[in-house]
Amino acid sequence: MLDFDVNELCYGCEACKNICPKQAIVMKKSYDGFLYPNIDKDLCIGCRKCDEVCLVLNKKVSEKKFRDRKAFAVYNLDDSIRKESSSGGLFTAIANYVIQRKGAVFGVVVSDNMEIIHTETESIDGIEAMRGSKYAQSRIDYIFTKVLKKLQDGKFVLFTGTPCQVNALYNFLNHNYDNLYTCDVICHGVPSPLVFNKYLKYMEDNKDSKIVKYNFRDKTFGWKKYNIKIQYEDNNSTLTKFNEDIYMKGFLSDLYLRNSCYNCKCKTDNVMSDITIGDFWGIENKYPEIDDDKGMAAVIINTTKGRKIIDILKDNIFMQPVSLNDIIDGNPSLRKAAKKNKCRDKFFHNINNIDIVKNIHKYYKKSISIESKLKGTVIKIIHKFKVVV
Ligand SMILES: Cc1cc2nc3c(=O)[nH]c(=O)nc-3n(C[C@H](O)[C@H](O)[C@H](O)COP(=O)(O)OP(=O)(O)OC[C@H]3O[C@@H](n4cnc5c(N)ncnc54)[C@H](O)[C@@H]3O)c2cc1C
Repeated sequence: MLDFDVNELCYGCEACKNICPKQAIVMKKSYDGFLYPNIDKDLCIGCRKCDEVCLVLNKKVSEKKFRDRKAFAVYNLDDSIRKESSSGGLFTAIANYVIQRKGAVFGVVVSDNMEIIHTETESIDGIEAMRGSKYAQSRIDYIFTKVLKKLQDGKFVLFTGTPCQVNALYNFLNHNYDNLYTCDVICHGVPSPLVFNKYLKYMEDNKDSKIVKYNFRDKTFGWKKYNIKIQYEDNNSTLTKFNEDIYMKGFLSDLYLRNSCYNCKCKTDNVMSDITIGDFWGIENKYPEIDDDKGMAAVIINTTKGRKIIDILKDNIFMQPVSLNDIIDGNPSLRKAAKKNKCRDKFFHNINNIDIVKNIHKYYKKSISIESKLKGTVIKIIHKFKVVV
């Protein structure tokens, strides 16, 4: 079963592993550090449940067309929560609401051994570790099975993740639970956990100290010019501007995203979550009067349930209606999948031969220099054209 080009198309959502009644599916790490399903033919009974939940084989369409969805600029009125969150802190507002109703929140944390994983919490304190974007694909493992259990117990559940993870959860559940809320993030694509781990190891060796905390979105110098903050066991810490951090450079030049990200179909009409949250990039041009550089979320309400949650939270959040196009302008990832970097294969070919920083630098630089050369040429042509006209 799962009879398609798994290495190119599989999202790594693990819905197949969660649904398999014989535990015949094991996720195996590939050369690029991403996990892919492997079926044990001796255990498989051919029930095809894996095909039924697979995102590649079953595309869903949301109740509302993308162009008809309402959009908002949002931030959490609690300044300290807003500061610790990547954009406006809406995730925490929703998570707090669910916990106060004795519910469970499922989200992504960096584990003690620095792995990026999905986990669950039923306490306000547990939300803290879920706050903030972690830029590598999170491990789902048996989380969908745990979500199902909570829903069947009648608990309120908030599940957060990438659009493909939320869609995969709906495929797995195959039932509309009134007690389930979902939020996805606007997703540029997920980087390889292998590259992240190698980068961590490089930094630890370089500083001769273990990393104890990694923040991808530190706001010490504001939201727009965010920093990467790394804290070490010896109490030292570093702050690096995101556009000077080599791991972020490789991520943003699409050098080591999952192959399925370049082919992602979980966009626009196919986004199934109740609410989509991202950064409102470009707010300073569209709505300068509300931009204070503390973090503004771009929020899209995808379902009636999503609208209800946001209305309930209105005393805890600032919220202003905006045009959907204003959000799309700063966030092309909402509509289009990332473009595969031409050097991706060469980069992974060298992953165990060259040190990680040199490897990223080599191929990120190549792709950027080709691009900027092209841009330079285009600008020169435009300039010439303008002069002639
Ligand atoms: C891989 C990735 C790519 C992204 N790309 C974009 C983009 O192109 N444009 C944009 O505007 N925003 C993007 N975001 C979203 C953005 O960075 C913020 O996460 C979002 O605005 C939520 O902000 P917040 O302040 O409400 O929540 P925060 O408090 O920052 O909470 C973060 C939320 O994201 C979830 N999360 C964190 N890491 C992961 C992960 N690895 N996988 C799945 N879920 C995760 C947590 O469970 C939590 O719900 C991306 C996020 C991730 C993780």
